[in-house]
Amino acid sequence: MVKIVIDAGHGFNTPGKRSPDDEREWTFNNKVAQYAIAKLETYKDVEILRVDDPSGKTDVPLNTRTNRANKWKADVYASIHHNALTGKWGKHSGIETYTMDKPKANPKSIEIAGAVHPRIVVAMGVSDRGMKRANFHVLRESAMPAILTEGGFMDSTIDILKLRDNHYLKSQGEAIAEGLAEYFKLEPKTIPEDNQTQTPAEGEENLYKPTSQAIVNSTIAVLQQLENMGEGPISPLWREKLLNGTLTDSDAIGLLYVAIDRGLLKDVT
Ligand SMILES: [Zn+2]
Repeated sequence: MVKIVIDAGHGFNTPGKRSPDDEREWTFNNKVAQYAIAKLETYKDVEILRVDDPSGKTDVPLNTRTNRANKWKADVYASIHHNALTGKWGKHSGIETYTMDKPKANPKSIEIAGAVHPRIVVAMGVSDRGMKRANFHVLRESAMPAILTEGGFMDSTIDILKLRDNHYLKSQGEAIAEGLAEYFKLEPKTIPEDNQTQTPAEGEENLYKPTSQAIVNSTIAVLQQLENMGEGPISPLWREKLLNGTLTDSDAIGLLYVAIDRGLLKDVT
């Protein structure tokens, strides 16, 4: 059994923790936490404990959070946050994942961050500010490996567009869950026999199932470039389908033609 603590940082009304338009950090953290938990529940032998107030009404003191995690003997503590730089709109952007600073650094924390962080970068499609160290309470006072994710800047005119889009928050939550699943070697819950043996009937589509993460990453990169061209009909929904495994082979081939047609391959030498 793997025991995972999830902590959506702060509370709804925590002073200062908001975007320049008064959107609350907790609401972003909470959505990502909910999506992460939903995904974690698809794996076998996992127990999840949420140590913030899931209603957002109280900002549970950090000591209470880490005490609960320690008493419960969690295997990992994952704290979910969103960043702010100046509190005023700017072009700064990107994802950071923190582990405890030396000398109390736990090598397992860094390994877990290494599994989670790159997935958040891909999920959010913004720049990678790297894995960092800091002497934060939840990292220092938790007796188990601990990470703290900053899934984008609330005061970034770039990142806020993603943070206002549930597709991205879902992808981020699932990225955190999948990174933890990889580190702890979690196995998906058994699919009922009927579904396992199901092959597409005539006229139904085969699903696009790349066998390597590198191909998935490249497909995501192409989709993002097409989205950014803004010539429709390529929307983040396609990326969600890819991440959910519901993109079909025909979709994938079609995307390749769109990419060629729009000149995405013209620089290849
Ligand atoms: Zn925060």
